[in-house]
Amino acid sequence: MVSGADWHPERLFFLISSARHFAAELREAGFEVRYLKAANTAAGLQEIKDEFSDITFLAAEQSSYRLTRSLTEFGVEFVENDFFLTPRTLFKSWADSQKSYLMENFYRKQRVRLNVLMEGDGPIGGQWNYDKDNRLPPPKNYTWPKYLEHQRDAIDLVVAAELKMSPTTIWATTRKGALAQLNYFIEHHFEKFGPYEDAMALDSWSLHHSVLSPYINNGLLHPSEVIDAACASFYKGKIPIESAEGFVRQIIGWREYINGMYWFLGEDYRENNQLSANRELLPLFTDPTKTSMNCMKSIVGDIKERSWVHHIPRLMLLSNLALITGTNPQQFLDWMRREFIDAADWVMVPNVIGMGVHADGGQMMSKPYAAGGAYISRMSNYCRGCIYNPKLRVGDDACPFTTLYWDFLDRHKETFIKNHRMGQQVNGLKRLSDLDELKHRAQEVLSGLEKGEI
Ligand SMILES: Cc1cc2nc3c(=O)[nH]c(=O)nc-3n(C[C@H](O)[C@H](O)[C@H](O)COP(=O)(O)OP(=O)(O)OC[C@H]3O[C@@H](n4cnc5c(N)ncnc54)[C@H](O)[C@@H]3O)c2cc1C
Ligand code: SF4
Repeated sequence: MVSGADWHPERLFFLISSARHFAAELREAGFEVRYLKAANTAAGLQEIKDEFSDITFLAAEQSSYRLTRSLTEFGVEFVENDFFLTPRTLFKSWADSQKSYLMENFYRKQRVRLNVLMEGDGPIGGQWNYDKDNRLPPPKNYTWPKYLEHQRDAIDLVVAAELKMSPTTIWATTRKGALAQLNYFIEHHFEKFGPYEDAMALDSWSLHHSVLSPYINNGLLHPSEVIDAACASFYKGKIPIESAEGFVRQIIGWREYINGMYWFLGEDYRENNQLSANRELLPLFTDPTKTSMNCMKSIVGDIKERSWVHHIPRLMLLSNLALITGTNPQQFLDWMRREFIDAADWVMVPNVIGMGVHADGGQMMSKPYAAGGAYISRMSNYCRGCIYNPKLRVGDDACPFTTLYWDFLDRHKETFIKNHRMGQQVNGLKRLSDLDELKHRAQEVLSGLEKGEI
């Protein structure tokens, strides 16, 4: 179980300072605001109830089962949560009508229902999805646009002092700052968002990603205004369709789908461990000095600094490593929940348990996102400066991802051979003349990772 005390300081700072600014804005707008500090939500509500005995509490639908339960027990009444564009009942009626819960099918329905990037009954540009145009590696000799900085005000400084931390200037804590971030993305990054969406680069921590998830998740931005800004910019003619469609797909597709699936799949879904993965969380996740893998050292260092990395490191580095090392899904989930600025139960549980580590046996994704060093080498510039070689699967120089990828397939071949989307990968094992040597090296790598020596 994750408690606030363990959270990344940037995450705590961002959430608390945003709430304080919001309270101040409401007061300025003439509302009477009572801002309480309490041990937990129920304790805060109890304080109010003690003062106003006949009060009725109204809240937006909560972001987790746990909070929903504790507020329900308290007698809180809920209204639909407008941080999303899809009511839970609507998502459920879609999911109930599906054999498999393919995001792409949901996304197409969303495009039509919300009338986004449509031309008559069909998609603008003639295709629903330009995913194949979203896979360029990081460009060489390229100057990335500067990052937008958010200067700290008096409220920020008070919160930082209370938390005994010194915040970066990366995260806005006001609506004005969040809007500035949205505009900055549209002006400086949106055009190239699509082509480099999957790339990872040592010389840029956010590439052309929007860095908007914290604000959309805590309500400083509404998803519909993000979509409106993106579409308005596209219709001006500067933005290629692969960027516009790719971005829209994230917001009205993936984000809504993940929230819908969290509530559709039920509270027990988070406990799934269908690959029986029971390894303790590796030391490198909490301490980047415990690894020589250039990619992991760099990404865990980035998380320590900013509480954020983009989608592909979350999926193809962090989750991929947890998956192929057989790390316990719940331990990994707890770590992710603690570290990321945009984390909440509704978004972490399906992304980690379903997409990241395939612990649900394929309920959400038809195949695991397992990959060796070749993928990471193609999509990033980490490998050139690494002591390991992404092409090698055996020997002291072998890339741990490459070794463990094959070992993972071998360990689970009986399960995956039944999956038609995995057949080719599993059959690849038959071509390995050094499988015994590889399995031996995999054991060395696993014990080296456990000791923090790989
Ligand atoms: C293992 C794992 C854990 C993740 N945990 C979180 C999390 O705790 N909170 C979170 O908001 N996102 C999470 N994501 C999704 C995604 O990685 C982040 O939303 C994204 O990296 C945020 O950066 P950005 O705003 O620059 O996104 P962009 O790449 O610019 O995308 C635009 C927006 O699309 C939405 N989005 C895209 N993909 C997803 C998705 N899979 N789930 C939900 N929203 C999505 C986000 O709101 C994001 O801001 C996770 C993904 C994985 C694989
Ligand atoms: S060689 Fe392997 S461990 Fe090193 S950076 Fe590349 S993928 Fe990461």
